[in-house]
Amino acid sequence: MEFIDLKEQYRRYRDDINTRMQAVLDHGRYVMGPEITELESQLADYVGVNHAITASSGTDSLEIALRALGIGPGDEIVTVPFTWISTAEVILLVGATPVFVDIDPVDFNIDVNRIEAAITPRTKALLPVSLFGQMPDYDRINAIAARYNLPVIEDGAQSFGATRNGRRSCGVTTVGSTSFFPAKPLGCYGDGGALFTNDDTLAEGMRAIRNHGGLQRHHHTCVGMNGRFDTLQAAVLLAKLPHFDREVKSRAALGARYSDRLAAGTQAPAMAGRIGTPVVQPGNTHVYAQYTIRVADRDELGAKLKQSGIPTAVYYPKCLHEQPVFKDCGNNVGDFPVSEQAAREVISLPMHPFLTESDQDKIVAAVKQAVDS
Ligand SMILES: *Cc1c(COP(=O)(O)O)cnc(C)c1O
Repeated sequence: MEFIDLKEQYRRYRDDINTRMQAVLDHGRYVMGPEITELESQLADYVGVNHAITASSGTDSLEIALRALGIGPGDEIVTVPFTWISTAEVILLVGATPVFVDIDPVDFNIDVNRIEAAITPRTKALLPVSLFGQMPDYDRINAIAARYNLPVIEDGAQSFGATRNGRRSCGVTTVGSTSFFPAKPLGCYGDGGALFTNDDTLAEGMRAIRNHGGLQRHHHTCVGMNGRFDTLQAAVLLAKLPHFDREVKSRAALGARYSDRLAAGTQAPAMAGRIGTPVVQPGNTHVYAQYTIRVADRDELGAKLKQSGIPTAVYYPKCLHEQPVFKDCGNNVGDFPVSEQAAREVISLPMHPFLTESDQDKIVAAVKQAVDS
């Protein structure tokens, strides 16, 4: 059993993927070839925004967004401590400081009620994450941002394809950023990412930064980077995109089926012998980049599942404010108790669009047996 079965996905779309990749190998425009523009146009339509800008990774795309917004030394960015390192790493990388806000215990996303208290005169942007595959309440987040005249960057690396009140992830804030790392909901066969916006000026700035600070050849207007997405990877995504809606539906159905079968849907933190299943917030669809449960002893559960041949993963065993790289940000262990408890209790089960119901039943039975024994 695979945690995420990428080989099965390739087996199913093999002809489309091979044909698309072969076309690139034949035309030879390996950097910024025609597939890039074709993909960007399809991605913009999919998300429902005017501009999609592909990038070399979901980390680089976040950095490009921060740079394009002019964020640098002395600036503060409000974000969460319970996320993948990239979210806050890029803040340090541009010389700014992450200001962490604790998460909501129900959906693991930023606790919107705590955002305002974290805003200071130095705050230059809000950077919430749509963790595990569902979005936080961006209506409220955008309203707070508007009061302080701040841009909002959605880290939608795990939520591509998710919706909130019918609007797609990456299309509801000043900028949306996603990742095409192979294991993400829409993955290529290497590193990749994309940025989304309706702001023409910002789009132009991000396009320039992605390509050494220049929109025209040999004319560099700002400090940029080599942040381009590979044409071959764009070909892979062009072959996968037509299947994506079906995969998103399959993920949602499998996630709901997991929760139903695990039958312990509780919004309270996990208690001994109980399983906390994901809660899909009202108005949301969830793409389950991770199907993450809470249990009192997740290391023991992981070990028992491993014995039954069931792979699991822990996202994330340590909060960012506990990581040595963020030690100078002024936080202490204990500052973000909801995040710290999540880091102790979470464990993710196998999840991908091709998970069979019989494998899922095996996983459910093994989880229940392990937790009850
Ligand atoms: C994966 C991920 C990223 C970074 O994406 P890469 O493409 O791997 O650089 C950023 N933020 C979150 C929340 C992620 O899960």
